[in-house]
Amino acid sequence: MAVLIEKGVDLEPLNTFGLPSRASRLVRVACEEDVHEVIAHPEVGRLPRFILGGGSNIVLTGDVSSLIIKVEVPGLELVETREDAWIVEVGAGESWHGLVEWTLARSLPGLENLALIPGTVGAAPVQNIGAYGLELAERFESLDVVELATGRTRTLGRGDCRFGYRDSIFKGKQAGSSLITRVRLRLPRPWQPVLGYPDLARLAEECCGRTPSPSEVFDRVCQVRRNKLPDPAVFGNAGSFFKNPVIPARQFLPLLEREAAIVHYPLSEDAYKLAAGWLIEACGWKGRSMGRTAVHDRQSLVLINRGGASGNEVMALAAAIQESVFERFGIRLEPEPAVL
Ligand SMILES: Cc1cc2nc3c(=O)[nH]c(=O)nc-3n(C[C@H](O)[C@H](O)[C@H](O)COP(=O)(O)OP(=O)(O)OC[C@H]3O[C@@H](n4cnc5c(N)ncnc54)[C@H](O)[C@@H]3O)c2cc1C
Repeated sequence: MAVLIEKGVDLEPLNTFGLPSRASRLVRVACEEDVHEVIAHPEVGRLPRFILGGGSNIVLTGDVSSLIIKVEVPGLELVETREDAWIVEVGAGESWHGLVEWTLARSLPGLENLALIPGTVGAAPVQNIGAYGLELAERFESLDVVELATGRTRTLGRGDCRFGYRDSIFKGKQAGSSLITRVRLRLPRPWQPVLGYPDLARLAEECCGRTPSPSEVFDRVCQVRRNKLPDPAVFGNAGSFFKNPVIPARQFLPLLEREAAIVHYPLSEDAYKLAAGWLIEACGWKGRSMGRTAVHDRQSLVLINRGGASGNEVMALAAAIQESVFERFGIRLEPEPAVL
């Protein structure tokens, strides 16, 4: 079936920040063949492209002239039961949270810490999503991509994806060059809860020596997230706007002398991760508004659209925050979402 080229598409409902934007052309792909058809298409095949999932990690600063390829590949399947793991194969267009619920309903635990992260399964490896002490990389088996320049289909393993903190081969220089169509996840057996994060350690204490069940962990993660994070349906946002900076010891140790309260986690002898939210709050930004944008009053890492804001207004707020954090701490915060 020929892919349909939609023109002048309103992108406001397709990004969780609720930013106004129009795409001159958009195509929806539901299988690899659709992707091949787009690449070979006489009208759109040669246009610059942007791959779109659920639009929960992007900032649209204006209308988009690139071809938007919206990934809608379906499918959820348990493909292998090994002694040490279940392998689940998922279409890139499936909802991530839907996948977490699907696995738990089939007694295939392992993803519960990553509940309620918005967006699609195909985007999850792009920034190696993580929350509550778990990253996608720890549950990753392999994925399939179509290289958009050549049309070549490849399967990549964990090493090929070069996962890092909110990072992978799909970000940076190679961003947008490969379209992920399918992801396989590895859910280890026997299941062990991941309870290191303070809110989950509290759950373990409440269980008084009994191991909490996967659905108890899931429920707690959902409860904590609903309390802490703004619902994009109420205030548009893209989750954490900045990455937690990682700095070397030679930069960190003098800073600690000056700023004794700085929240930090040693990663190695030479690298420290700092809490970007703490840096932002220390600069007085928590809950502060700037025009139609603001810093969320319960979570300083989240920038919100108070209603009717443009992407440029969001980026102006982000720049003002970056400037104050740099002035006080000498650290340049790096935005997490893709900016178009
Ligand atoms: C309220 C809220 C809470 C959040 N909490 C978290 C959290 O706890 N942890 C976390 O890690 N993230 C979090 N996020 C960010 C976001 O949910 C994730 O990054 C998510 O994986 C983005 O999925 P998406 O489908 O919406 O991607 P999009 O926003 O559509 O795209 C994001 C990037 O991925 C690329 N991309 C998308 N699909 C594909 C594909 N199939 N192939 C290749 N490239 C693709 C896009 O080109 C873009 O560069 C949160 C966001 C919100 C709004």
